Amino acid sequence: MASNIDAFRTLRNRPHVVILGAGASVAAIPCGDKYGRKISVMDGFIDNLGMRDILAGINFKSENLEDIYSELSKHQEYDEIREKLENSIRDYFSQYYLPEEPTIYDLLLLSLKEKDIVATFNWDPLLVLAYLRCREITLKLPQLLFLHGNVAVQLCLEEKRIFFQLYQGYCRQCQNQLSPCRLLYPVQQKITMQIHISKINGIALNII
Ligand SMILES: [Zn+2]
Repeated sequence: MASNIDAFRTLRNRPHVVILGAGASVAAIPCGDKYGRKISVMDGFIDNLGMRDILAGINFKSENLEDIYSELSKHQEYDEIREKLENSIRDYFSQYYLPEEPTIYDLLLLSLKEKDIVATFNWDPLLVLAYLRCREITLKLPQLLFLHGNVAVQLCLEEKRIFFQLYQGYCRQCQNQLSPCRLLYPVQQKITMQIHISKINGIALNII
């Protein structure tokens, strides 16, 4: 019996890691966002975000956005197209707002502790917006990791600080212009990206 209690105690004291995919954001706003907008999952993403025009005249073997982006990355002449794709994603997801009532993201954040981690693959700002409003009532929140970047994350590259906000603006510490978090990476570089963001999160997290 004693060993069981020890096992439970160990379990309780361990950090928890929660990994969120696109389905989590869909579940967070089942009736749509504050303005009734439903969120798009990756299926049909290219058409839903109006990317077909940007990609007109280019032949691809895959309809998967990441595969397409990886293919484009191999050719410098497509740099402008890659930027347009990323801007489409940023414009699309930046328009989402949380409904007034608590969502599963609010409940998730409030149920975890500072030693825990919520890692998300999602570009939308819903988790960050939930984090910001939860911070109004407690600072004891889990760390966030953005495995594919996020539209609500801005970076001060000078100081390696991250800021949670949708608009670009300037760093309040060093006044340098903030850079939007990159959203698309060639698949072969993605592992590097994950480590990079983890390190930035470990260095500093500023909320403004
Ligand atoms: Zn700075």
